[in-house]
Amino acid sequence: MNDVVHVDHPLVRHKLSYLRDRRTSTGDFRRLVKELTSLLTYEATKELPTETVRVETPLEWTQVERVSGKKLAVCPVLRAGVGMLDGFLELVSGARVGFVGLFRDEETLEPVEYYVKLPTDLGVRDAIVLDPMLATGNSLAAAITAIKKEGPRSVSVICLVSAPQGIERVHAKHPDVVVYTAAIDRELNDRGYIVPGLGDAGDRLYGTK
Ligand code: URA
Repeated sequence: MNDVVHVDHPLVRHKLSYLRDRRTSTGDFRRLVKELTSLLTYEATKELPTETVRVETPLEWTQVERVSGKKLAVCPVLRAGVGMLDGFLELVSGARVGFVGLFRDEETLEPVEYYVKLPTDLGVRDAIVLDPMLATGNSLAAAITAIKKEGPRSVSVICLVSAPQGIERVHAKHPDVVVYTAAIDRELNDRGYIVPGLGDAGDRLYGTK
């Protein structure tokens, strides 16, 4: 399938421009990540099935559409993915939440899980993974592998900025996963940062540098 959905909306481009700007404060950065995630969530939930129900307006009975009991699980990748969680839950408040934490083994350079806590009923849910920066794709691919072990019905990903190599890497391992992203940047630099990018999303979200 190898789907990438580049969400190219004027509001997304506008907010992303401030996210990229090095002068944007930590507080504004956090707010913008949340707002952008809500906009991307809107797109990523476009195919949610709805069902017809009857309600009584102040004037008469009518048929309306409601999202049918579709079960979603949202899984932020620690730590920067947590900055996206509220933006997702603002639109899908009933979603269950799982967390995946990975670090890079400095000898093998492979991602190693250090924390995985997922909803116990993931087998009846569609999982949406949150990770703002899709850089090499190694840790995101490993996070998806960890989530797939619990047998979700499907997995998709919401990122803010992606590198072409990262998208390729994720799809090489997980061709069934749809990636929703606000931007596809030029490349990775020799330190693994996305360029032009926005720097280290975790540091900018939490003011750690
Ligand atoms: N992680 C980040 O936070 N930024 C990058 O550019 C790459 C990975």
